[in-house]
Amino acid sequence: MSTAPTRMLEPHTPLYLDTPPHVITEGSGIEVRDAEGRWYVDGVAGLWSVTLGYSEPRLVRAATEQMNRLPFYGSFNHRTNDVALALAADVAEISPIPMGRVFFGNSGSDANDSAIKFARYYHWAQGRPERRKIISHHCGYHGTTLAAGSATGLSHIHHGFGLAGDDFLSAHCPDPLHPASRGMSEEEQVDWLVRDFENLVLETGPETVAAFISEPILGAGGLIIPPAGYFARIQEVLDRHGILFIADEVITGYGRTGQMFATTALGLRPDIITSAKGLSSSYLPISATLVGERVSEVLAEGSRQIGTFGHGFTYSGHPVAAAVARETLAIVRERDIPGHVCEVAPHLARGLEKFRGAELVRDVRHYGLLGGVQFDPEQAGAEPGRLGQEVLEAAKQRGLLLRAMGDTVVFAPPLIITPGQVDEVLERFTAAYDDVLASRRRQ
Ligand code: PMP
Repeated sequence: MSTAPTRMLEPHTPLYLDTPPHVITEGSGIEVRDAEGRWYVDGVAGLWSVTLGYSEPRLVRAATEQMNRLPFYGSFNHRTNDVALALAADVAEISPIPMGRVFFGNSGSDANDSAIKFARYYHWAQGRPERRKIISHHCGYHGTTLAAGSATGLSHIHHGFGLAGDDFLSAHCPDPLHPASRGMSEEEQVDWLVRDFENLVLETGPETVAAFISEPILGAGGLIIPPAGYFARIQEVLDRHGILFIADEVITGYGRTGQMFATTALGLRPDIITSAKGLSSSYLPISATLVGERVSEVLAEGSRQIGTFGHGFTYSGHPVAAAVARETLAIVRERDIPGHVCEVAPHLARGLEKFRGAELVRDVRHYGLLGGVQFDPEQAGAEPGRLGQEVLEAAKQRGLLLRAMGDTVVFAPPLIITPGQVDEVLERFTAAYDDVLASRRRQ
């Protein structure tokens, strides 16, 4: 007999908890209300994803109108719907790489599974079926399905599920605070990371590697911003060995970095880009896998050998999700959301920088509307992860929802946040920090 307080198998949650979950029932602007009637500023935009906030009427209207006109038609067997086709053209217009085609799915995980399959198909179509392996980072997060979960470099995602295995290899986390690179200059760190990356490729055999997948800024691994020049040097290794580059822009896509894509912000040259979350401001599930021209052409050639392209989901290009995504992109472009992010981000950065060197704090990081304050359990004599949880709980008490990745508390507010609202987030965070500090000093 189950004693759980809920019948839902809650994702990313310890299933043995005997307390009820925190239930959110309503949202408005950048705030959400819980079942007890308390309002919170949402410092993490749901799951880094509600870029336009919780009450954008144009998105509601787009969904309603499309529901009335055509609630569903799929995209298999060369029959599709007008909205999916129009969204593909919209995405092509803003793509930061010369895009051949875009594939639509429903989640970040399935976008990454698709990208991994496309990379293998690309090599197979050119007579190299042994190029199957995927390289990712130890602290990278790409989802939880079989392939994306295997590429994710966080062990709790693998345990018990039989993920990872021989086809998935992990390179060092490009973390400037990596213990093995302590004391190195930024340049030396890049040299070390790149040397290690190329050794990994050489040891496993370049002729067996299909692709490297990475987030431009690593989110769920603890907001890791790779050292300057890292990706350019990795790209040289990839080019040397004929390995494709998949940029996972599920968090960074559609404005969060102050550019439409982090690919542009960081000068990356990916062959495939995966995206989801901000594509529809999360009002409905939809993902887009942007396939570069060269790869697209080879996929088409490959499908000629089989007679079809054996990949796709019932809900690929779902017309209601596609209508909401089209409207989201229209708003992002009309209101110049990336430009707005460039204006507000320095505000968040300045506020977070005040915590650099503060008691209990190990590091402060930020890029666009992404921020992280890493706490130091050693200073506090606390177990790893404990301080992150304490700050999170204190912030909740102060009316601010955040997330903690270990001891790094992350900020990823809706992109429509104003400078005044950034101040409010920072004030509440400061109060929460003071609460934790005071309680720690009492212990
Ligand atoms: N990639 C990245 C970078 C992510 O942050 C996430 C989810 N947070 C995913 C992929 C997986 O997306 P989903 O949960 O929609 O499957």
